[in-house]
Amino acid sequence: MTALLSTSGTGHRPLRLHRWSDRLRQYNFNLKFTPGRDNVVADLLSRSAPPHPDTPIHTDTDQVERDIVQMLHAPLQAVISLQELKEASEQDPVLSQLRVYILNGWPQEVPEGLAAFSRIKQELSCWNDTCVARGLCTVIPSTLRACVLAMAHEGHLGIVKLKQRCRERVWWPGIDKDIEALVKDCAACLLSGKTGHQAPPPLQPLTWPSQPWDHLQLDICGEIQGVPHHQRFLVVVYDLHSKWPELIATGSVTSQVIINFLDSLFSRWGLPNTITTDNGPQLISAEFTTYLKNKGIHHIRTAYYHPQANGGVERFHQSLKNSLRAHLFQGWSFSQAIHHTLLHYRATQHSTTGVSPAFLMLGRELHLPLDRLSPALPQEPLQRVRASVTRQQKRMKQKFDLSARVKVPDIKAADWVRVRRPHRDNKLASYWSAPLQVTHQLGPATFLLSDGTRWHASRLRKVPPLAHMTGVTSQATPPARQDTPALQLTPQIAPVQAPDISTNLPAEICACPSQAAQPHPRVSPRPVRIRSRPGHLQDFVSTFHV
Ligand SMILES: [Zn+2]
Repeated sequence: MTALLSTSGTGHRPLRLHRWSDRLRQYNFNLKFTPGRDNVVADLLSRSAPPHPDTPIHTDTDQVERDIVQMLHAPLQAVISLQELKEASEQDPVLSQLRVYILNGWPQEVPEGLAAFSRIKQELSCWNDTCVARGLCTVIPSTLRACVLAMAHEGHLGIVKLKQRCRERVWWPGIDKDIEALVKDCAACLLSGKTGHQAPPPLQPLTWPSQPWDHLQLDICGEIQGVPHHQRFLVVVYDLHSKWPELIATGSVTSQVIINFLDSLFSRWGLPNTITTDNGPQLISAEFTTYLKNKGIHHIRTAYYHPQANGGVERFHQSLKNSLRAHLFQGWSFSQAIHHTLLHYRATQHSTTGVSPAFLMLGRELHLPLDRLSPALPQEPLQRVRASVTRQQKRMKQKFDLSARVKVPDIKAADWVRVRRPHRDNKLASYWSAPLQVTHQLGPATFLLSDGTRWHASRLRKVPPLAHMTGVTSQATPPARQDTPALQLTPQIAPVQAPDISTNLPAEICACPSQAAQPHPRVSPRPVRIRSRPGHLQDFVSTFHV
């Protein structure tokens, strides 16, 4: 560092070092050594260099880094001097009228624009000739409100803390709503993961198909550890009408394996009208898509990382895994465990339909050993099953919508959104993508974006249309003013500290939300590599994690 500051000329050092030394010359500082292992943000300075204007920006990561860089280089917020506050208060028509009422008494009929002030007229007073105060808080004229909010939000406080901070100093009618809107639309807060929580949209129960084998869900379960290698993936097909499951255990899950499995099923049960799958590579491949198209089967793909849309089969996976585990504990082979689990699932009453999958699929019950001990049961008419399904779906929807505090998404085509991705490229990157435009609404809560991906509303966050242009919040960003030396809002008000960018920002950007989405656990994102133990390690004990 000493060498950096004492060396002059640019011929023999990189431009970046030159820029640092220029930047540091204006400060008096003490140098302190911090070992690299304790200094987790050591490369922040190198990251804060603004990109060259000619550098093309292509990727999402670039966009996120550009957002961060813009935040680091955003000009410090303007400060408002007492003189400016006086002038703005004097020119504000509402405050002018208010001053007259405060000094001369309130009339019987208060104009509509002053109704909010009339309710608190006991607390209002004038100070400094032209300014109005509510208690100890200055009433800010409308022209300065955005600027004051931006000043208060400099440290990117959350909604609660920002309200606390403002309540001690300033007030105007509707300040709480303005604060909520500011924090909600602040791109920096969103990218750093501070305001990522999104109320889920209401549950959308699937329409119960009118007949068996009409609408199937297909999913891949695995990789399952501790089972024979050639059986470590389960391809599961689940009939939404009867809840009848079919599955095979396989060592690889290519499109061809799945097609062969479907062929065998179709030979027994005929063709369905619709199959719903997630977006696993083998399920969106040209081979698989063409196969379904040739059979005249409608293929529905769920939104990315939203397995709830494939709810029936996902729920079956849980029952399946629990049952398989119990059988394996008892010492059954994996194949035996699968057959036994399927038999009991198909023969047992399902909680939604109130009858067994076998009854809806075959029109008769499957006999288990226990059934031989009792007389045959009367058969359930289909109307009663339909009523049971409707009742159960309604109950589940009410329970979910209440517990999850759902909110109908206010996203529509042509809106700009950010996507909360399941992964991020590095710790400095945000989980939130660059802004993308919604091109189509595919369902009540599923949207197709301009990059061709489809997402459920629970992973989307609407952003103001201009945010994608600037990378920082477009709302309430006042013009920078150089002519005011320091914040002197009121005599009683302590200055709002400008944030120390070098210490505050990295911590915020690195903040890792604990609810980070996990990647879809069931579908292997790429072909699985078969690993074998190298010959030269024969004398060693080693463990492989695939
Ligand atoms: Zn913010």
